[in-house]
Amino acid sequence: MKAAYREDLIPAYRVKRDDGGMSLMFRCPHCRAVHCHGEPDGERSVVTGRGAGCHDPLSPWFGRGYRLMIVGAVRSSKQLPSNGAADIVALNEAMADR
Ligand SMILES: [Zn+2]
Repeated sequence: MKAAYREDLIPAYRVKRDDGGMSLMFRCPHCRAVHCHGEPDGERSVVTGRGAGCHDPLSPWFGRGYRLMIVGAVRSSKQLPSNGAADIVALNEAMADR
């Protein structure tokens, strides 16, 4: 049985922080901010149950959670590519049957 609601899957990048630790970041197409989340220990490609960092009530993720799919790494948050909201919808549709 499928869950009625699945948290969106979002492409995220590993970024080394100034303090040497690793974070997972992506540029949010809804609120335009860079969202930064901790990376759990161990090799995982999908990180579940992250509370959305959106402070924009118009964002579909506001007050909800999402899953981060680690798709690469960048040197700094300034190099994060922008994902369009439509790209993320397309990704989730493509992954929905799996
Ligand atoms: Zn946001």
